Amino acid sequence: MGQSFNLHGVLQSFRVLLSPRLMVPNIIVRDIRDINFEQLHKSGITAIAFDKDNCLTPPYGKDLYPPFEDAWKRCRDVYKDQVVIVSNSAGTQDDKDHQLAKAIEFSLQVQVLRHRQKKPAGGDELLSHFSGIRPARIAFVGDRALTDIVFGNNWGMLTILTRDVVTEEGDNPMAKRIRRMEHRALAFLDSMNIKPRSHPIKIDLHDVVMQPPPPPKTQEEVKAQAAIDTREAKEAAEQKAKEATESHAKGEHFSEKKTTTK
Ligand SMILES: [Mg+2]
Repeated sequence: MGQSFNLHGVLQSFRVLLSPRLMVPNIIVRDIRDINFEQLHKSGITAIAFDKDNCLTPPYGKDLYPPFEDAWKRCRDVYKDQVVIVSNSAGTQDDKDHQLAKAIEFSLQVQVLRHRQKKPAGGDELLSHFSGIRPARIAFVGDRALTDIVFGNNWGMLTILTRDVVTEEGDNPMAKRIRRMEHRALAFLDSMNIKPRSHPIKIDLHDVVMQPPPPPKTQEEVKAQAAIDTREAKEAAEQKAKEATESHAKGEHFSEKKTTTK
């Protein structure tokens, strides 16, 4: 199932141009296996919300990525009913009769939030769900800086970015491109010493993060990756143009044949 155009989300993202810090997460991990849920809870984070696609499941998938099973069980054991999934596909108005949300709830054994607004908008719907819990005591975990992290930061939650996606296979090509751009932007912001907003609850990263991801790429590596992306995009465009020319030539040949056989 696809996602409809997220206009409100795009408009919200423009706020990042004025305040780039909004897209910087409090914590970066490789994936959910690196989160020590027991310690996170002991630190005072009493509720937790997750993005779905490429954070817990493959894009548009209904099942947990199998290597995450132990971590997911630990999370559910610690947080019990104070864990929820906030997806921009399942549980939204794009999800007919919330069939996808129901399938994911069955598969992942966690509630999927029904919501009208898509991330980075709509934080009030999540706060209503966790009624009585202060935003600072809620962690939001996701793979996208401009949606998940801006969403959590906007509302004063603790934000955790999962840097290694489950798979890019089957992902929305636009989302794939934007995510790579986000990673480059985060590396740039880090090089400019732009830090996340300070969070009222003190978190000891050594306790909460089992294994930190390697440091962001250097400017040279970022430039090299940008050059690779540009070259790949150029090659893909050339290949497409070549295929179009070949198919056009075949078509002409066919019509010529048709003409001569008359
Ligand atoms: Mg995602």
